[in-house]
Amino acid sequence: MQPKSTIVHLPVYQPGKPIEEVKRELGLSEVIKLASNENPFGSSPKAKEAIQAEIDSVSLYPDGGAVELTAALAAHLGIQPNQILFGAGSDEVILMIARAYLVKGDETVMATHTFPQYKHNCEIEGAVSIEVPLKDGKHDLPGMLAKINERTKIVWVCNPNNPTGTMVTRAELNDFLQQVPQHVLVVLDEAYIEYTDSEEFPDGIELLPHYKNVITLRTFSKIYGLASLRIGYGVGHPDVIHSINQVREPFNTSRFAQAAAKAAVKDQEFIAYCRKMNAAGIEYMTGEFRKLGLSYYPAYGNFIMVDVQRPAKEVFDALLRKGFIIRGGHALDFPTKIRVTVGSQEQNAKFIAALTQVLDEVAVQA
Ligand SMILES: *Cc1c(COP(=O)(O)O)cnc(C)c1O
Repeated sequence: MQPKSTIVHLPVYQPGKPIEEVKRELGLSEVIKLASNENPFGSSPKAKEAIQAEIDSVSLYPDGGAVELTAALAAHLGIQPNQILFGAGSDEVILMIARAYLVKGDETVMATHTFPQYKHNCEIEGAVSIEVPLKDGKHDLPGMLAKINERTKIVWVCNPNNPTGTMVTRAELNDFLQQVPQHVLVVLDEAYIEYTDSEEFPDGIELLPHYKNVITLRTFSKIYGLASLRIGYGVGHPDVIHSINQVREPFNTSRFAQAAAKAAVKDQEFIAYCRKMNAAGIEYMTGEFRKLGLSYYPAYGNFIMVDVQRPAKEVFDALLRKGFIIRGGHALDFPTKIRVTVGSQEQNAKFIAALTQVLDEVAVQA
Protein backbone atom coordinates (compact mmCIF):
# COMPACT_ATOMS: atom_id res chain seq x y z
CA MET A 1 0.00 0.00 0.00
CA GLN A 2 1.31 3.43 -0.92
CA PRO A 3 -0.37 6.60 0.32
CA LYS A 4 -0.32 9.53 -2.07
CA SER A 5 3.09 11.14 -2.43
CA THR A 6 1.84 14.55 -1.32
CA ILE A 7 1.15 13.34 2.23
CA VAL A 8 4.03 11.03 3.15
CA HIS A 9 6.10 13.84 4.71
CA LEU A 10 3.21 15.45 6.62
CA PRO A 11 3.29 15.32 10.43
CA VAL A 12 0.22 14.14 12.33
CA TYR A 13 -1.26 17.10 14.21
CA GLN A 14 0.03 17.13 17.79
CA PRO A 15 -2.56 18.56 20.15
CA GLY A 16 -1.42 20.32 23.32
CA LYS A 17 -1.56 18.39 26.58
CA PRO A 18 -5.01 18.34 28.16
CA ILE A 19 -5.39 20.29 31.43
CA GLU A 20 -6.01 17.11 33.47
CA GLU A 21 -2.78 15.51 32.29
CA VAL A 22 -0.73 18.64 33.07
CA LYS A 23 -2.26 18.71 36.58
CA ARG A 24 -1.38 15.10 37.21
CA GLU A 25 2.16 15.24 35.80
CA LEU A 26 3.16 18.42 37.60
CA GLY A 27 1.13 17.87 40.77
CA LEU A 28 -0.83 21.11 40.31
CA SER A 29 -4.33 21.73 41.62
CA GLU A 30 -5.10 24.55 39.19
CA VAL A 31 -4.09 24.82 35.55
CA ILE A 32 -5.09 27.77 33.35
CA LYS A 33 -5.05 27.21 29.59
CA LEU A 34 -4.46 30.34 27.55
CA ALA A 35 -3.25 28.50 24.47
CA SER A 36 -6.06 27.91 21.99
CA ASN A 37 -7.90 31.25 21.87
CA GLU A 38 -11.01 29.70 23.37
CA ASN A 39 -13.61 31.96 24.97
CA PRO A 40 -12.96 32.24 28.75
CA PHE A 41 -16.64 33.10 29.25
CA GLY A 42 -17.88 29.90 27.65
CA SER A 43 -20.87 30.22 25.37
CA SER A 44 -24.33 31.77 25.39
CA PRO A 45 -26.75 30.05 27.81
CA LYS A 46 -29.23 30.08 24.90
CA ALA A 47 -26.84 27.90 22.88
CA LYS A 48 -26.65 25.39 25.75
CA GLU A 49 -30.44 25.25 25.97
CA ALA A 50 -30.65 24.66 22.22
CA ILE A 51 -28.27 21.70 22.52
CA GLN A 52 -30.38 20.16 25.27
CA ALA A 53 -33.52 20.58 23.19
CA GLU A 54 -31.94 18.46 20.42
CA ILE A 55 -31.05 15.49 22.65
CA ASP A 56 -34.08 13.39 21.75
CA SER A 57 -33.27 13.74 18.04
CA VAL A 58 -29.78 12.32 18.43
CA SER A 59 -30.66 9.25 16.35
CA LEU A 60 -31.67 11.36 13.34
CA TYR A 61 -29.31 12.71 10.70
CA PRO A 62 -28.93 16.48 10.77
CA ASP A 63 -30.28 18.74 8.04
CA GLY A 64 -27.47 18.46 5.48
CA GLY A 65 -28.30 21.87 4.07
CA ALA A 66 -28.49 23.53 7.51
CA VAL A 67 -31.50 25.45 6.22
CA GLU A 68 -32.66 27.04 9.47
CA LEU A 69 -29.19 28.07 10.56
CA THR A 70 -28.45 29.44 7.09
CA ALA A 71 -31.59 31.57 7.23
CA ALA A 72 -30.77 32.89 10.71
CA LEU A 73 -27.19 33.72 9.77
CA ALA A 74 -28.13 35.26 6.41
CA ALA A 75 -30.59 37.54 8.21
CA HIS A 76 -27.97 38.47 10.81
CA LEU A 77 -25.33 39.26 8.18
CA GLY A 78 -27.74 40.88 5.72
CA ILE A 79 -26.92 38.49 2.86
CA GLN A 80 -28.63 35.75 0.82
CA PRO A 81 -28.71 32.08 1.89
CA ASN A 82 -26.93 31.00 -1.33
CA GLN A 83 -23.90 33.01 -0.26
CA ILE A 84 -23.21 30.81 2.81
CA LEU A 85 -21.79 27.35 3.38
CA PHE A 86 -21.03 25.58 6.67
CA GLY A 87 -18.15 23.34 7.63
CA ALA A 88 -17.12 21.24 10.63
CA GLY A 89 -15.22 24.27 11.87
CA SER A 90 -13.76 26.74 9.42
CA ASP A 91 -10.91 24.22 9.31
CA GLU A 92 -13.18 22.07 7.17
CA VAL A 93 -14.08 25.01 4.95
CA ILE A 94 -10.33 25.50 4.34
CA LEU A 95 -10.07 21.80 3.45
CA MET A 96 -13.06 21.99 1.10
CA ILE A 97 -11.71 25.09 -0.67
CA ALA A 98 -8.40 23.31 -1.29
CA ARG A 99 -10.23 20.22 -2.47
CA ALA A 100 -12.51 22.15 -4.81
CA TYR A 101 -9.91 24.44 -6.35
CA LEU A 102 -6.44 22.88 -6.30
CA VAL A 103 -4.72 20.22 -8.39
CA LYS A 104 -1.07 19.16 -8.52
CA GLY A 105 1.19 21.92 -9.73
CA ASP A 106 -1.15 24.81 -8.86
CA GLU A 107 0.31 27.60 -6.78
CA THR A 108 -1.13 29.29 -3.73
CA VAL A 109 0.25 32.33 -1.94
CA MET A 110 0.20 32.86 1.81
CA ALA A 111 2.06 34.63 4.57
CA THR A 112 4.67 32.96 6.69
CA HIS A 113 3.85 32.74 9.50
CA THR A 114 0.11 32.35 9.46
CA PHE A 115 -2.57 29.75 10.25
CA PRO A 116 -0.95 26.38 9.36
CA GLN A 117 -4.06 24.72 7.92
CA TYR A 118 -3.78 26.67 4.64
CA LYS A 119 -0.42 25.18 3.74
CA HIS A 120 -1.34 21.77 5.14
CA ASN A 121 -4.41 21.40 2.93
CA CYS A 122 -2.72 22.90 -0.15
CA GLU A 123 0.10 20.38 0.17
CA ILE A 124 -2.32 17.46 0.39
CA GLU A 125 -3.74 18.51 -2.99
CA GLY A 126 -0.23 18.70 -4.45
CA ALA A 127 -0.24 22.48 -4.81
CA VAL A 128 2.89 24.55 -4.23
CA SER A 129 2.69 27.04 -1.37
CA ILE A 130 4.52 30.29 -2.02
CA GLU A 131 5.23 31.82 1.38
CA VAL A 132 5.80 35.54 1.82
CA PRO A 133 7.38 36.58 5.14
CA LEU A 134 5.39 38.84 7.46
CA LYS A 135 6.70 42.40 7.89
CA ASP A 136 6.60 43.51 11.53
CA GLY A 137 4.19 40.64 12.16
CA LYS A 138 1.85 41.90 9.40
CA HIS A 139 0.90 40.45 6.01
CA ASP A 140 3.06 41.95 3.27
CA LEU A 141 0.25 42.35 0.73
CA PRO A 142 2.37 44.04 -1.98
CA GLY A 143 4.93 41.23 -1.55
CA MET A 144 2.15 38.63 -1.88
CA LEU A 145 0.74 40.38 -4.95
CA ALA A 146 4.17 40.18 -6.60
CA LYS A 147 4.09 36.38 -6.25
CA ILE A 148 0.82 35.94 -8.14
CA ASN A 149 1.15 34.48 -11.64
CA GLU A 150 -0.99 32.49 -14.10
CA ARG A 151 -0.52 29.31 -12.02
CA THR A 152 -1.81 30.97 -8.82
CA LYS A 153 -5.23 29.66 -7.77
CA ILE A 154 -5.66 30.87 -4.17
CA VAL A 155 -4.26 33.63 -1.95
CA TRP A 156 -4.82 33.30 1.80
CA VAL A 157 -5.16 36.37 4.04
CA CYS A 158 -5.67 35.79 7.76
CA ASN A 159 -7.10 38.92 9.40
CA PRO A 160 -6.30 39.35 12.23
CA ASN A 161 -3.34 37.09 11.62
CA ASN A 162 -2.85 34.02 13.76
CA PRO A 163 -0.35 33.79 15.52
CA THR A 164 0.70 37.47 15.49
CA GLY A 165 -2.70 39.14 16.04
CA THR A 166 -2.00 41.96 13.59
CA MET A 167 -4.50 43.58 11.22
CA VAL A 168 -4.56 44.29 7.51
CA THR A 169 -6.46 47.59 7.22
CA ARG A 170 -9.46 48.28 5.00
CA ALA A 171 -7.37 50.58 2.78
CA GLU A 172 -4.55 48.03 2.46
CA LEU A 173 -6.96 45.21 1.64
CA ASN A 174 -8.90 47.22 -0.95
CA ASP A 175 -5.71 48.31 -2.64
CA PHE A 176 -4.65 44.65 -2.77
CA LEU A 177 -7.97 43.26 -4.00
CA GLN A 178 -8.14 45.80 -6.83
CA GLN A 179 -4.90 44.37 -8.19
CA VAL A 180 -5.53 40.63 -7.70
CA PRO A 181 -6.44 39.03 -11.05
CA GLN A 182 -9.95 37.61 -11.44
CA HIS A 183 -8.73 34.00 -11.82
CA VAL A 184 -7.37 34.02 -8.25
CA LEU A 185 -9.61 33.19 -5.27
CA VAL A 186 -8.80 35.30 -2.20
CA VAL A 187 -9.63 33.56 1.07
CA LEU A 188 -10.11 36.05 3.89
CA ASP A 189 -9.99 34.24 7.23
CA GLU A 190 -11.82 36.34 9.81
CA ALA A 191 -11.93 33.85 12.70
CA TYR A 192 -11.61 36.66 15.26
CA ILE A 193 -13.42 39.55 13.56
CA GLU A 194 -16.18 39.74 16.17
CA TYR A 195 -13.55 40.81 18.70
CA THR A 196 -12.57 43.99 16.92
CA ASP A 197 -14.34 47.30 16.74
CA SER A 198 -11.54 49.18 15.01
CA GLU A 199 -12.86 51.55 12.33
CA GLU A 200 -9.96 50.56 10.10
CA PHE A 201 -10.70 46.84 10.25
CA PRO A 202 -12.18 45.56 6.95
CA ASP A 203 -15.33 43.44 6.93
CA GLY A 204 -15.28 40.67 4.32
CA ILE A 205 -19.07 40.63 4.10
CA GLU A 206 -19.07 44.23 2.86
CA LEU A 207 -16.71 43.20 0.05
CA LEU A 208 -19.18 40.64 -1.33
CA PRO A 209 -20.92 42.93 -3.85
CA HIS A 210 -17.57 44.19 -5.15
CA TYR A 211 -15.44 41.06 -5.53
CA LYS A 212 -16.69 37.78 -6.92
CA ASN A 213 -13.32 36.18 -6.15
CA VAL A 214 -13.32 36.73 -2.37
CA ILE A 215 -14.55 34.17 0.18
CA THR A 216 -14.69 35.13 3.85
CA LEU A 217 -14.29 32.48 6.56
CA ARG A 218 -15.73 32.80 10.05
CA THR A 219 -16.26 30.44 12.94
CA PHE A 220 -18.40 29.67 15.96
CA SER A 221 -15.30 28.36 17.78
CA LYS A 222 -13.84 31.64 19.00
CA ILE A 223 -16.02 34.46 20.37
CA TYR A 224 -19.16 32.29 20.12
CA GLY A 225 -17.50 29.73 22.40
CA LEU A 226 -18.68 26.60 20.56
CA ALA A 227 -15.27 25.12 19.64
CA SER A 228 -16.14 21.56 20.66
CA LEU A 229 -19.16 21.44 18.35
CA ARG A 230 -17.07 22.09 15.21
CA ILE A 231 -18.95 24.63 13.16
CA GLY A 232 -17.71 27.47 10.98
CA TYR A 233 -18.72 29.00 7.66
CA GLY A 234 -17.69 30.61 4.42
CA VAL A 235 -19.43 33.57 2.78
CA GLY A 236 -18.90 34.28 -0.90
CA HIS A 237 -20.35 34.57 -4.39
CA PRO A 238 -23.08 31.94 -5.04
CA ASP A 239 -20.96 30.33 -7.79
CA VAL A 240 -18.00 29.89 -5.44
CA ILE A 241 -20.25 28.57 -2.67
CA HIS A 242 -21.80 26.14 -5.19
CA SER A 243 -18.39 24.78 -6.23
CA ILE A 244 -17.40 24.18 -2.62
CA ASN A 245 -20.78 22.56 -1.87
CA GLN A 246 -20.00 20.05 -4.63
CA VAL A 247 -17.18 18.57 -2.53
CA ARG A 248 -18.92 18.89 0.87
CA GLU A 249 -19.87 15.74 2.77
CA PRO A 250 -23.66 15.36 2.98
CA PHE A 251 -23.95 15.71 6.77
CA ASN A 252 -20.81 17.65 7.69
CA THR A 253 -22.27 19.66 10.58
CA SER A 254 -24.13 18.04 13.45
CA ARG A 255 -27.65 18.69 14.68
CA PHE A 256 -26.22 20.03 17.96
CA ALA A 257 -23.81 22.37 16.21
CA GLN A 258 -26.53 23.77 13.96
CA ALA A 259 -28.98 24.30 16.82
CA ALA A 260 -26.39 25.88 19.10
CA ALA A 261 -25.06 28.16 16.37
CA LYS A 262 -28.56 29.31 15.47
CA ALA A 263 -29.29 30.22 19.08
CA ALA A 264 -25.86 31.81 19.51
CA VAL A 265 -26.32 34.14 16.53
CA LYS A 266 -29.48 35.46 18.13
CA ASP A 267 -27.71 36.26 21.41
CA GLN A 268 -25.61 39.21 20.33
CA GLU A 269 -25.72 40.57 23.88
CA PHE A 270 -23.37 37.75 24.93
CA ILE A 271 -21.05 38.57 22.02
CA ALA A 272 -20.99 42.27 22.93
CA TYR A 273 -20.12 41.36 26.53
CA CYS A 274 -17.24 39.11 25.43
CA ARG A 275 -15.95 41.78 23.04
CA LYS A 276 -15.95 44.35 25.85
CA MET A 277 -14.25 42.06 28.36
CA ASN A 278 -11.63 41.06 25.78
CA ALA A 279 -10.84 44.71 24.97
CA ALA A 280 -10.38 45.41 28.69
CA GLY A 281 -8.17 42.31 28.96
CA ILE A 282 -5.96 43.44 26.08
CA GLU A 283 -5.63 46.88 27.64
CA TYR A 284 -4.69 45.37 31.00
CA MET A 285 -2.23 42.80 29.64
CA THR A 286 -0.47 45.16 27.21
CA GLY A 287 -0.21 47.76 30.00
CA GLU A 288 1.47 45.14 32.20
CA PHE A 289 3.78 44.08 29.33
CA ARG A 290 4.89 47.70 28.94
CA LYS A 291 5.62 47.92 32.68
CA LEU A 292 7.73 44.77 32.29
CA GLY A 293 9.57 46.36 29.37
CA LEU A 294 8.23 43.82 26.85
CA SER A 295 7.15 44.67 23.32
CA TYR A 296 4.19 43.02 21.61
CA TYR A 297 2.35 43.10 18.31
CA PRO A 298 -0.83 45.20 18.20
CA ALA A 299 -3.56 42.68 19.06
CA TYR A 300 -6.86 42.66 17.17
CA GLY A 301 -8.11 39.22 18.22
CA ASN A 302 -8.35 37.56 21.65
CA PHE A 303 -4.64 36.73 21.89
CA ILE A 304 -1.38 38.66 22.12
CA MET A 305 2.06 37.80 20.82
CA VAL A 306 4.62 39.28 23.19
CA ASP A 307 8.41 39.28 22.98
CA VAL A 308 9.69 37.88 26.28
CA GLN A 309 13.34 38.46 25.22
CA ARG A 310 14.17 34.99 26.45
CA PRO A 311 14.15 31.55 24.79
CA ALA A 312 10.46 30.84 24.23
CA LYS A 313 10.78 27.15 25.14
CA GLU A 314 12.27 27.99 28.54
CA VAL A 315 9.55 30.55 29.26
CA PHE A 316 6.91 28.07 28.09
CA ASP A 317 8.28 25.33 30.39
CA ALA A 318 8.59 27.69 33.38
CA LEU A 319 5.01 28.91 32.90
CA LEU A 320 3.80 25.32 32.59
CA ARG A 321 5.41 24.42 35.94
CA LYS A 322 3.37 27.27 37.44
CA GLY A 323 0.19 25.93 35.85
CA PHE A 324 -0.15 28.09 32.72
CA ILE A 325 -0.46 26.60 29.25
CA ILE A 326 0.34 29.12 26.49
CA ARG A 327 1.79 28.80 22.97
CA GLY A 328 5.56 29.09 22.86
CA GLY A 329 6.99 30.81 19.80
CA HIS A 330 9.67 28.11 19.53
CA ALA A 331 7.04 25.90 17.87
CA LEU A 332 5.97 28.75 15.58
CA ASP A 333 9.38 30.08 14.47
CA PHE A 334 9.32 33.05 16.85
CA PRO A 335 12.24 32.08 19.12
CA THR A 336 11.77 34.74 21.84
CA LYS A 337 8.02 35.28 21.64
CA ILE A 338 4.98 33.65 23.20
CA ARG A 339 1.32 33.79 22.21
CA VAL A 340 -1.14 34.09 25.05
CA THR A 341 -4.93 34.03 24.87
CA VAL A 342 -6.75 36.83 26.71
CA GLY A 343 -8.60 35.13 29.56
CA SER A 344 -10.98 36.34 32.24
CA GLN A 345 -9.82 39.26 34.39
CA GLU A 346 -8.80 36.85 37.14
CA GLN A 347 -6.89 34.56 34.76
CA ASN A 348 -5.10 37.53 33.19
CA ALA A 349 -3.96 38.85 36.57
CA LYS A 350 -2.71 35.41 37.64
CA PHE A 351 -0.90 35.02 34.32
CA ILE A 352 0.85 38.38 34.65
CA ALA A 353 1.97 37.48 38.19
CA ALA A 354 3.38 34.16 36.95
CA LEU A 355 5.07 35.75 33.94
CA THR A 356 6.68 38.38 36.18
CA GLN A 357 8.24 35.57 38.27
CA VAL A 358 9.30 33.62 35.17
CA LEU A 359 11.09 36.66 33.71
CA ASP A 360 13.23 36.69 36.88
CA GLU A 361 13.94 32.97 36.63
CA VAL A 362 14.86 32.69 32.95
CA ALA A 363 17.98 34.46 31.67
CA VAL A 364 17.60 37.07 28.95
CA GLN A 365 18.57 35.86 25.48
CA ALA A 366 21.90 37.44 24.60
C1 LIG B 1 -9.26 28.91 15.26
C2 LIG B 1 -9.03 29.33 13.84
C3 LIG B 1 -9.70 28.75 12.77
C4 LIG B 1 -10.53 27.51 12.80
O1 LIG B 1 -11.37 27.31 13.75
P1 LIG B 1 -12.48 26.18 13.65
O2 LIG B 1 -12.59 25.71 15.03
O3 LIG B 1 -12.02 25.11 12.70
O4 LIG B 1 -13.68 26.88 13.12
C5 LIG B 1 -9.49 29.22 11.50
N1 LIG B 1 -8.64 30.22 11.28
C6 LIG B 1 -7.95 30.80 12.27
C7 LIG B 1 -7.03 31.89 11.95
C8 LIG B 1 -8.11 30.36 13.57
O5 LIG B 1 -7.39 30.91 14.55
